[in-house]
Amino acid sequence: MPRSPQLRLSTVCTEGQILHELFHVLGFAHEHSRPDRDDYIQINCENIARNLTQNFRRLKKETVHTFDVPYDFYSIMHYRLDHFSANGQPTIEPLDSQLELNYNLIGLMKVLSQGDIYRLNKLYHCKTLR
Ligand SMILES: [Zn+2]
Repeated sequence: MPRSPQLRLSTVCTEGQILHELFHVLGFAHEHSRPDRDDYIQINCENIARNLTQNFRRLKKETVHTFDVPYDFYSIMHYRLDHFSANGQPTIEPLDSQLELNYNLIGLMKVLSQGDIYRLNKLYHCKTLR
């Protein structure tokens, strides 16, 4: 019998962080690891804290469930722009073409985005409520 995935949480986790971790268990990867991420962001490896660069690796197309949803800066699975920074400088930088973004809302990990909900429904074949 396959083992159920286990989720270990810190006692100081927020509801949003719990949602983020649950999304991992449900089969979703970090948004900034999508195979097409280089069309939207730049990863600044020189700013990433030692031994944490693996959190920023780009995944192969076969291992990510995007369901043709465009790159989602407001996904529960997106890091803050300075996540795991060694020097306070951005580790993730939106490309110039992404001018309409609200930088203050990226990586908050508070609520699911519309894209998160859509992908979750698609992966688990759920019908959306109206
Ligand atoms: Zn994560």
